[in-house]
Amino acid sequence: MMSNVHIIYTGGTIGMVDSPQGLVPGADLAGWLAGLLPPDRPAAPGLEALGSTTLTALEPLIDSSNATPESWQAIVDEVRAHASGHPDEPIVVLHGTDTMAYTSAALSYALAGLGAPVVITGSQLPLGAEGSDAEANVLGALRAAVSGRVNGVALFFGGLLLAGGRATKSSSWDLMGFASPVAPPLSRAASDSGPWEWTADVGGAGSSVPSITRAAPRPYARHDVVVIDMVPGITGARAAALLDPLPEAVILRAFGVGNVPSDEPGLVEAIARAIRAGTAVIIASQCHQAEVILGHYATGDAIARAGAVGAADMTLEAAYAKAQFLLAQGLTGTALAEAMGHPIAGELSPRR
Ligand code: ASP
Repeated sequence: MMSNVHIIYTGGTIGMVDSPQGLVPGADLAGWLAGLLPPDRPAAPGLEALGSTTLTALEPLIDSSNATPESWQAIVDEVRAHASGHPDEPIVVLHGTDTMAYTSAALSYALAGLGAPVVITGSQLPLGAEGSDAEANVLGALRAAVSGRVNGVALFFGGLLLAGGRATKSSSWDLMGFASPVAPPLSRAASDSGPWEWTADVGGAGSSVPSITRAAPRPYARHDVVVIDMVPGITGARAAALLDPLPEAVILRAFGVGNVPSDEPGLVEAIARAIRAGTAVIIASQCHQAEVILGHYATGDAIARAGAVGAADMTLEAAYAKAQFLLAQGLTGTALAEAMGHPIAGELSPRR
């Protein structure tokens, strides 16, 4: 069966051109796409099922470093508006790479249960630049979108198809710029034209959809979620200052399985005070591959007893976007902290 695909262009290097201030959006993306996908094109491998494509540009086109939760919502709104007239039609989102993993996680929560696959991609080099990865990534994302094997939101980049809530930008220059440090890729392209190797579990994105996301979720807005890194030598006074004024939620990037400098005078107390005042404190890890287990060491137990919760094996991007999503749904404090541990769209593994 042929499948039309709707493409949503949000900005990013893929459509940028040089300016005196550096790269800015400005390329003729519509013209480039028309050249890439002429109506009489011979069926490229994996694209036999691709029908026609439509394109919407979300104005203003942005460098994704300027993205906010409102930008995520603009994409969600466009996806839902398109899906209401064309249910089940796959969607490809073109996006800057810098915050693409945040957006893919955010979309996976807000679009859980949508029914149509959504595949996000971008490129390290602008379209038309020598050696650009734009063409390979767009064709790969289209291939994933019409494959019939993607459930939920996925990210295609550098030959890898990753679950939307599991991806992280791993390189600022390599054409394989994204990784999924904990979960295996959904698929791997050995070459642009060859067959793809799919893993057995292709439902990782969108596999578990709790009731909070079944009804139309409330829109993303900008909530005050702060990310704080632990470093050797951080003082209790600095930690307290970073928590003043109190944010709605804290993602605290701790060491290893979730350990903090608990001998540092006032540090655990500053975190405990924030929790008592109604801030959700979520402990993530600075390790790319981690499963946070608070209480494995005494240095993590102290904050667990204060009421902090672990981010399990979520990436920073997945945890941050999830805190924003749950705050938008009206959850705060301990209810928010508790909800962080339940998977919405395959972003977190059940406790081993
Ligand atoms: N700064 C660009 C962006 O995120 C980088 C890229 O697209 O690769 O929009």
